[in-house]
Amino acid sequence: MKASIVDGWPKGNSIKILVEGTDAAQVNALRRAIMADVPKMAISKVMFTLGVNQDNNRGEIFESVNALPDEVIAHRLAMIPIPTHPEEGMAFPDECETCLNLAEDDKGCPSCQVLYTLNVQGPSSDSDEPHRVVRAGDLTNVSDPLFDISEEMQSIPLTYLAQGQFLEFIAFATLGRGRDHAKWASASAVTFQPVYEAELKKPKKADVLFGLDLSTTDGRPIDAKLFKSKKCTDIATVLDLEKALHQVGPGTGRDGDFDDAIVLNQVEGSFVFSFDTDGSMPGSTIFNLALEELKSRFQNINEDLSRAFA
Ligand SMILES: [Zn+2]
Repeated sequence: MKASIVDGWPKGNSIKILVEGTDAAQVNALRRAIMADVPKMAISKVMFTLGVNQDNNRGEIFESVNALPDEVIAHRLAMIPIPTHPEEGMAFPDECETCLNLAEDDKGCPSCQVLYTLNVQGPSSDSDEPHRVVRAGDLTNVSDPLFDISEEMQSIPLTYLAQGQFLEFIAFATLGRGRDHAKWASASAVTFQPVYEAELKKPKKADVLFGLDLSTTDGRPIDAKLFKSKKCTDIATVLDLEKALHQVGPGTGRDGDFDDAIVLNQVEGSFVFSFDTDGSMPGSTIFNLALEELKSRFQNINEDLSRAFA
């Protein structure tokens, strides 16, 4: 199996990867590994402060009541993409060597969890603001700065605080896998499709399509110039052509004149893999981790088998 990032990607948190010399079963195993097995960090425990606070300067009273139940806030916290650095060697909470022999309540150390705090008050009583929005950026990371919430994610809203309300908690992020909870899934919309090559079979009839004044995603006109010696193999361009062909396909009234002037031929054993990351890790890292996960799983099967037949 050979993998390479398709030219022009990643775009933001989206990535397309060309996988060659493989079959649909292998690529699908990879797809499932990306969704369920690649470990990432997510907030998995929150301890809320309940009660009444007095503002020291003004003597104003703030209460830990809130428009949203604690469970909903905890869920929203879990969904914030926490920067994940596989090379830092964070341990799973149940595999952490430091915490292995500790009682359940004592578990948790710098090598298996990251700590965030939040302490926000609503607007004071003389403020014109009716409420204040609490955002992911209000979280203070008290562990390694590596785990600071990225700028891109800081604007994620968590809740509103009205006058006289406060929100205070400690949140713990731990490593987990998507198969245990969606908060630990680092990628979504994980799909793959066969690679096609476009072939210009009838240049004259293809004018039915070329005359429609369509253009590719990167702004080139869809015309005969996309083809070199009647073939187009550039993956991004072929994906655009595939979409454009719907304009001359069955039901458009143009299919008769077009007469399959351009056909798509499948490239044996090659697939385009696409997914969106949640922003906690680059797409290429997630892809490589998925390969590692698969590799170690098959190694385990090998060992189990040889033990069983020994
Ligand atoms: Zn630990």
